[in-house]
Amino acid sequence: MQTADRAAGVLELLRLRYPTRETHLVAHNARELLVATVLAAQCTDVRVNQVTPGLFRRWPGPAELAQATQEELEEVIHSTGFYRNKATNLLGAARRVTDVHGGEVPRTMAELVQLPGVARKTANVVLWGAYGINEGIAVDTHVKRIAFRMGFTESVDPVQIERDLMDLFPRDAWGDVNHMLVWFGRHVCDARAPRCGECEMIEVCPRHGVGQKEGADSRKAADKASVRAAGKTAGKAGKTGSAKAAPSKSASRPSATSPAKPRNGGKP
Ligand code: SF4
Repeated sequence: MQTADRAAGVLELLRLRYPTRETHLVAHNARELLVATVLAAQCTDVRVNQVTPGLFRRWPGPAELAQATQEELEEVIHSTGFYRNKATNLLGAARRVTDVHGGEVPRTMAELVQLPGVARKTANVVLWGAYGINEGIAVDTHVKRIAFRMGFTESVDPVQIERDLMDLFPRDAWGDVNHMLVWFGRHVCDARAPRCGECEMIEVCPRHGVGQKEGADSRKAADKASVRAAGKTAGKAGKTGSAKAAPSKSASRPSATSPAKPRNGGKP
Protein backbone atom coordinates (compact mmCIF):
# COMPACT_ATOMS: atom_id res chain seq x y z
CA MET A 1 0.00 0.00 0.00
CA GLN A 2 1.33 3.44 -0.91
CA THR A 3 2.24 5.79 1.93
CA ALA A 4 -0.41 8.29 0.85
CA ASP A 5 -3.06 5.57 0.93
CA ARG A 6 -1.93 4.47 4.37
CA ALA A 7 -2.08 8.08 5.57
CA ALA A 8 -5.64 8.36 4.28
CA GLY A 9 -6.51 5.16 6.12
CA VAL A 10 -4.91 6.39 9.32
CA LEU A 11 -6.81 9.67 9.13
CA GLU A 12 -10.10 7.85 8.66
CA LEU A 13 -9.42 5.57 11.62
CA LEU A 14 -8.31 8.45 13.81
CA ARG A 15 -11.50 10.34 13.01
CA LEU A 16 -13.55 7.30 13.94
CA ARG A 17 -11.73 6.98 17.25
CA TYR A 18 -11.85 10.69 18.02
CA PRO A 19 -15.06 12.18 16.63
CA THR A 20 -14.55 15.31 18.72
CA ARG A 21 -11.15 16.87 18.43
CA GLU A 22 -10.27 19.43 21.03
CA THR A 23 -7.30 20.49 23.05
CA HIS A 24 -7.07 19.40 26.67
CA LEU A 25 -5.65 22.75 27.63
CA VAL A 26 -8.42 24.92 29.04
CA ALA A 27 -8.38 28.28 27.29
CA HIS A 28 -11.16 30.62 26.26
CA ASN A 29 -9.33 32.81 23.78
CA ALA A 30 -6.05 33.16 21.93
CA ARG A 31 -4.37 35.02 24.78
CA GLU A 32 -5.16 32.25 27.24
CA LEU A 33 -4.24 29.50 24.79
CA LEU A 34 -0.87 31.12 24.14
CA VAL A 35 -0.08 31.29 27.86
CA ALA A 36 -1.33 27.74 28.49
CA THR A 37 0.66 26.33 25.59
CA VAL A 38 3.87 27.98 26.72
CA LEU A 39 3.30 26.64 30.24
CA ALA A 40 2.65 23.14 28.87
CA ALA A 41 6.29 22.69 27.82
CA GLN A 42 7.57 19.70 29.81
CA CYS A 43 4.42 19.76 31.95
CA THR A 44 1.10 17.93 31.94
CA ASP A 45 -2.05 19.60 30.67
CA VAL A 46 -3.68 18.72 33.99
CA ARG A 47 -1.09 20.70 35.92
CA VAL A 48 -1.33 23.63 33.53
CA ASN A 49 -5.11 23.64 33.91
CA GLN A 50 -4.68 23.85 37.66
CA VAL A 51 -2.42 26.87 37.39
CA THR A 52 -4.01 28.97 34.66
CA PRO A 53 -7.35 29.92 36.30
CA GLY A 54 -5.55 31.80 39.07
CA LEU A 55 -3.12 33.30 36.61
CA PHE A 56 -5.89 34.54 34.32
CA ARG A 57 -7.87 35.97 37.24
CA ARG A 58 -4.86 37.90 38.46
CA TRP A 59 -3.67 39.01 35.01
CA PRO A 60 -6.65 38.81 32.62
CA GLY A 61 -4.78 39.88 29.50
CA PRO A 62 -1.38 40.70 28.01
CA ALA A 63 -1.48 44.32 29.22
CA GLU A 64 -1.99 43.22 32.82
CA LEU A 65 0.49 40.36 32.55
CA ALA A 66 3.10 42.68 31.11
CA GLN A 67 2.94 44.61 34.39
CA ALA A 68 3.66 41.56 36.54
CA THR A 69 7.08 41.13 38.06
CA GLN A 70 9.24 38.15 37.26
CA GLU A 71 9.02 37.02 40.89
CA GLU A 72 5.23 37.28 41.03
CA LEU A 73 4.80 35.23 37.89
CA GLU A 74 7.39 32.65 38.90
CA GLU A 75 5.53 32.05 42.14
CA VAL A 76 2.24 31.44 40.32
CA ILE A 77 3.64 29.10 37.65
CA HIS A 78 6.26 27.40 39.80
CA SER A 79 4.59 23.97 39.70
CA THR A 80 4.71 23.79 35.89
CA GLY A 81 8.51 23.45 35.87
CA PHE A 82 11.08 25.54 34.03
CA TYR A 83 9.29 28.36 35.78
CA ARG A 84 12.05 30.96 35.54
CA ASN A 85 12.39 30.66 31.80
CA LYS A 86 8.66 30.33 31.27
CA ALA A 87 8.08 33.49 33.31
CA THR A 88 10.70 35.34 31.29
CA ASN A 89 9.11 34.17 28.04
CA LEU A 90 5.55 34.93 29.14
CA LEU A 91 6.46 38.42 30.27
CA GLY A 92 8.33 39.05 27.03
CA ALA A 93 5.45 37.73 24.96
CA ALA A 94 2.89 39.77 26.92
CA ARG A 95 4.92 42.92 26.37
CA ARG A 96 5.35 42.31 22.66
CA VAL A 97 1.66 41.44 22.19
CA THR A 98 0.76 44.64 24.05
CA ASP A 99 3.30 46.95 22.45
CA VAL A 100 3.43 45.61 18.90
CA HIS A 101 0.08 43.89 18.34
CA GLY A 102 -2.31 46.11 20.29
CA GLY A 103 -3.03 43.45 22.88
CA GLU A 104 -4.19 40.81 20.38
CA VAL A 105 -2.29 37.60 19.72
CA PRO A 106 -1.17 37.75 16.07
CA ARG A 107 -2.71 35.44 13.49
CA THR A 108 0.33 34.64 11.38
CA MET A 109 3.15 32.17 11.86
CA ALA A 110 5.73 34.83 11.03
CA GLU A 111 4.46 37.15 13.77
CA LEU A 112 3.86 34.43 16.34
CA VAL A 113 7.38 33.01 16.18
CA GLN A 114 8.70 36.49 16.96
CA LEU A 115 7.14 36.21 20.42
CA PRO A 116 9.46 35.03 23.19
CA GLY A 117 8.74 31.42 24.04
CA VAL A 118 6.98 30.67 20.76
CA ALA A 119 8.35 28.34 18.08
CA ARG A 120 6.48 26.60 15.25
CA LYS A 121 4.91 23.98 17.50
CA THR A 122 3.36 26.48 19.88
CA ALA A 123 2.39 28.77 16.99
CA ASN A 124 0.63 25.91 15.20
CA VAL A 125 -1.31 25.04 18.35
CA VAL A 126 -2.41 28.65 18.83
CA LEU A 127 -3.26 29.29 15.17
CA TRP A 128 -5.45 26.24 14.91
CA GLY A 129 -6.84 26.14 18.43
CA ALA A 130 -7.70 29.82 18.70
CA TYR A 131 -8.23 30.94 15.12
CA GLY A 132 -8.97 27.75 13.19
CA ILE A 133 -5.97 28.41 10.92
CA ASN A 134 -4.19 25.35 9.57
CA GLU A 135 -0.70 26.68 8.97
CA GLY A 136 1.20 23.50 9.82
CA ILE A 137 1.19 20.42 12.04
CA ALA A 138 2.49 20.80 15.58
CA VAL A 139 5.09 18.09 16.14
CA ASP A 140 5.56 17.01 19.73
CA THR A 141 7.05 13.81 21.09
CA HIS A 142 3.87 11.78 20.38
CA VAL A 143 3.54 13.00 16.81
CA LYS A 144 7.24 12.43 16.21
CA ARG A 145 7.16 8.87 17.51
CA ILE A 146 3.98 7.82 15.74
CA ALA A 147 4.98 9.40 12.43
CA PHE A 148 8.11 7.27 12.47
CA ARG A 149 6.38 4.06 13.52
CA MET A 150 3.76 4.53 10.83
CA GLY A 151 6.43 5.07 8.20
CA PHE A 152 5.41 8.64 7.46
CA THR A 153 8.90 10.02 8.08
CA GLU A 154 12.48 8.86 8.43
CA SER A 155 13.59 12.10 10.03
CA VAL A 156 14.11 13.02 13.68
CA ASP A 157 14.00 16.73 12.88
CA PRO A 158 10.61 18.20 13.90
CA VAL A 159 10.64 20.65 11.00
CA GLN A 160 11.23 17.89 8.45
CA ILE A 161 8.67 15.64 10.17
CA GLU A 162 6.15 18.46 9.94
CA ARG A 163 6.88 18.83 6.22
CA ASP A 164 6.54 15.08 5.66
CA LEU A 165 3.18 15.01 7.45
CA MET A 166 1.94 18.12 5.65
CA ASP A 167 2.66 16.35 2.36
CA LEU A 168 0.60 13.34 3.41
CA PHE A 169 -2.46 14.87 5.07
CA PRO A 170 -4.94 17.35 3.62
CA ARG A 171 -4.51 20.89 4.89
CA ASP A 172 -7.93 21.11 6.47
CA ALA A 173 -6.95 18.17 8.70
CA TRP A 174 -3.58 19.46 9.93
CA GLY A 175 -4.77 20.80 13.28
CA ASP A 176 -6.87 17.72 13.90
CA VAL A 177 -3.99 15.42 12.97
CA ASN A 178 -1.86 16.92 15.73
CA HIS A 179 -4.52 16.52 18.40
CA MET A 180 -5.58 13.05 17.32
CA LEU A 181 -2.01 11.75 17.17
CA VAL A 182 -1.27 13.19 20.61
CA TRP A 183 -4.29 11.41 22.05
CA PHE A 184 -3.51 8.25 20.12
CA GLY A 185 0.02 8.33 21.53
CA ARG A 186 -1.36 8.57 25.05
CA HIS A 187 -4.08 5.98 24.63
CA VAL A 188 -2.63 3.33 22.29
CA CYS A 189 0.73 3.95 20.65
CA ASP A 190 2.59 4.36 23.91
CA ALA A 191 6.27 5.26 23.79
CA ARG A 192 7.44 2.22 25.75
CA ALA A 193 4.60 -0.26 25.24
CA PRO A 194 2.58 0.32 22.07
CA ARG A 195 -0.65 -1.69 22.19
CA CYS A 196 -0.33 -3.09 18.67
CA GLY A 197 -2.45 -6.14 19.55
CA GLU A 198 -5.50 -3.98 20.11
CA CYS A 199 -4.70 -1.25 17.60
CA GLU A 200 -7.02 -0.60 14.68
CA MET A 201 -4.06 0.77 12.68
CA ILE A 202 -2.34 -2.61 12.49
CA GLU A 203 -3.28 -3.11 8.82
CA VAL A 204 -1.86 0.23 7.73
CA CYS A 205 1.07 0.59 10.14
CA PRO A 206 4.48 -0.90 9.32
CA ARG A 207 5.43 -0.56 13.02
CA HIS A 208 8.84 0.85 12.23
CA GLY A 209 11.19 0.37 15.17
CA VAL A 210 8.61 -1.42 17.32
CA GLY A 211 10.16 -4.45 19.00
CA GLN A 212 13.45 -3.85 17.25
CA LYS A 213 16.17 -2.97 19.69
CA GLU A 214 18.18 -1.03 17.17
CA GLY A 215 15.25 1.03 16.02
CA ALA A 216 13.96 1.51 19.54
CA ASP A 217 17.36 2.60 20.78
CA SER A 218 17.73 4.94 17.87
CA ARG A 219 14.37 6.54 18.50
CA LYS A 220 14.98 6.64 22.23
CA ALA A 221 18.20 8.52 21.67
CA ALA A 222 16.41 10.87 19.32
CA ASP A 223 13.61 11.42 21.82
CA LYS A 224 16.08 12.07 24.60
CA ALA A 225 17.81 14.60 22.40
CA SER A 226 14.42 16.12 21.70
CA VAL A 227 13.61 16.39 25.41
CA ARG A 228 16.98 18.00 26.07
CA ALA A 229 16.36 20.41 23.23
CA ALA A 230 12.89 21.18 24.61
CA GLY A 231 14.41 21.89 27.99
CA LYS A 232 16.92 24.21 26.45
CA THR A 233 14.17 25.72 24.35
CA ALA A 234 12.05 26.39 27.41
CA GLY A 235 15.15 27.94 28.88
CA LYS A 236 15.72 30.29 26.04
CA ALA A 237 13.67 33.35 25.32
CA GLY A 238 12.28 33.06 21.85
CA LYS A 239 11.75 29.31 21.57
CA THR A 240 9.67 26.75 23.40
CA GLY A 241 7.10 24.05 22.84
CA SER A 242 4.27 22.33 24.59
CA ALA A 243 4.15 19.12 26.52
CA LYS A 244 1.11 17.00 27.08
CA ALA A 245 -0.64 15.12 29.81
CA ALA A 246 0.71 11.93 31.29
CA PRO A 247 0.02 8.84 29.22
CA SER A 248 -3.32 7.20 29.95
CA LYS A 249 -3.30 3.69 31.31
CA SER A 250 -6.39 2.93 29.30
CA ALA A 251 -6.57 2.11 25.63
CA SER A 252 -10.22 3.04 25.55
CA ARG A 253 -11.58 5.94 23.59
CA PRO A 254 -11.58 9.29 25.33
CA SER A 255 -14.73 10.18 27.15
CA ALA A 256 -17.10 12.64 25.58
CA THR A 257 -17.01 14.39 28.92
CA SER A 258 -13.23 14.63 28.99
CA PRO A 259 -11.85 17.92 30.31
CA ALA A 260 -11.18 19.04 26.77
CA LYS A 261 -12.06 22.64 26.08
CA PRO A 262 -13.62 23.41 22.74
CA ARG A 263 -11.99 25.67 20.24
CA ASN A 264 -13.34 29.17 20.52
CA GLY A 265 -14.49 29.48 16.96
CA GLY A 266 -11.75 31.84 15.97
CA LYS A 267 -12.55 34.50 18.49
CA PRO A 268 -9.48 36.12 19.97
S1 SF4 B 1 0.15 -0.83 15.19
FE1 SF4 B 1 1.46 -0.48 17.00
S2 SF4 B 1 3.07 0.91 16.29
FE2 SF4 B 1 1.41 0.99 14.79
S3 SF4 B 1 0.11 2.71 15.45
FE3 SF4 B 1 -0.74 0.85 16.38
S4 SF4 B 1 0.20 0.75 18.41
FE4 SF4 B 1 1.45 2.18 17.19
